[in-house]
Amino acid sequence: MAHVELIAVGTELLLGQLVDTNTPFIAAQLADAGIDVYATHAVGDNRERIAHAISAALERADGVITTGGLGPTVDDLTKEAVCDALGIDSVRHEPTIARMEAFFASIGRPMRENNRKQADLPRGSIVLENPHGTAPGFLVSAFEGKFVAGLPGVPQEMKPILIDHLLPRLRERFGGERIVTRVLHTTGLGESEIDHRIEDVFRASENPKVALLAHIGACDVKIMAKAPSEAEAAAMIAPLEKELRARLRGHVYGADDESLAATILALLRKRGWRLATAESCTGGRIASALTSVAGASQSFAGGVVAYENAAKIALLDVDARVIEEFGAVSENAALAMAHGARARFGAEVAIATTGVAGPGGGSPEKPVGLVWLAAEWPDGHRSVSVNFAGDREAIQARATQASLALLWGILTSGEATAKSS
Ligand code: ATP
Repeated sequence: MAHVELIAVGTELLLGQLVDTNTPFIAAQLADAGIDVYATHAVGDNRERIAHAISAALERADGVITTGGLGPTVDDLTKEAVCDALGIDSVRHEPTIARMEAFFASIGRPMRENNRKQADLPRGSIVLENPHGTAPGFLVSAFEGKFVAGLPGVPQEMKPILIDHLLPRLRERFGGERIVTRVLHTTGLGESEIDHRIEDVFRASENPKVALLAHIGACDVKIMAKAPSEAEAAAMIAPLEKELRARLRGHVYGADDESLAATILALLRKRGWRLATAESCTGGRIASALTSVAGASQSFAGGVVAYENAAKIALLDVDARVIEEFGAVSENAALAMAHGARARFGAEVAIATTGVAGPGGGSPEKPVGLVWLAAEWPDGHRSVSVNFAGDREAIQARATQASLALLWGILTSGEATAKSS
């Protein structure tokens, strides 16, 4: 299988002023195309060092892909360095000049002499058109059938050139196998429990390969298949996915891009239900997760961040005596908050959180990390307490995820059956 190395060019990358997002993007795209990445590098805007990095990478790999340094300024030196590394000169690509002239005319700005430099490409290059900018990418042959490709640094320019122009050529050249990935999102099971349930599949998996990826309060099961075509890879995944879903029944809430919040909103929409939130320790994070989904207004009525006791009483009609007797972090308070939110918003279902996010405020009976979650729906209610580990940020994130998981469980378990009240 072909393997390449990636070189991100830019002094900003070495000063910690710019986070390199191009390298992981390119790496993921190459993996999907069945091309292995053996190493990635970052190099400053220095002609000699860029040339050296390219030469050294070419000794090891079948090809090198650079990003950045294709611009018009004096510190954009990637093309010069590629020429140095390959011992070739550059030639001006006239169609690119014409395209740039038309572009500058269309925006009513003069085209400077240094812009012309962007049309100078290593001799013998295949030009990779840049529909979103002036500097095109290029693909040039090196010794022994190897190659160097140059892509711009601006991610919005780099991505379409990579996907539309470079990858098809590399696939053609290396006949790489296709890799298809399917990610099953689970909640309510720890990594070790999932491992236990799918151990035999996990251990035996070579192609398709199974991997676990733990996140805060959730765990993904990733299935990857390699085959000559996408359809064949997908067909290899299907039976394994079915088996894994069966073993993790009741815990897989979605696949690939489906978020828990989006899944919940879809379930609510199906029932014709609206949701309200009453948040204390999660500080609006549940509402934020829900509203980040487009079209959330169809099923999410709104939420209250009721942090101090007075807000719980005034905005959610929590009885002051409940707080006095049981405390703000209690099952009774959580249930009263859910009840209040449901009534105030006229929603069918509501969820509430109240807990000790820390680092202070804990006590032996109510330690940092204790969170009460509650939900109320037309014909029932549920409450659960969890002791979350971690710092304030982690406790809030875990409580948010657990609240959404609780709601998802209620909506999918058949527990909440009523249409509406
Ligand atoms: P153009 O010719 O379109 O200006 P370029 O190839 O000259 O692109 P650079 O000048 O190296 O690109 O970078 C331009 C900008 O692109 C940077 O300031 C940064 O915002 C972004 N960029 C560059 N490299 C990366 C990278 N590796 N990851 C994320 N962003 C990057």
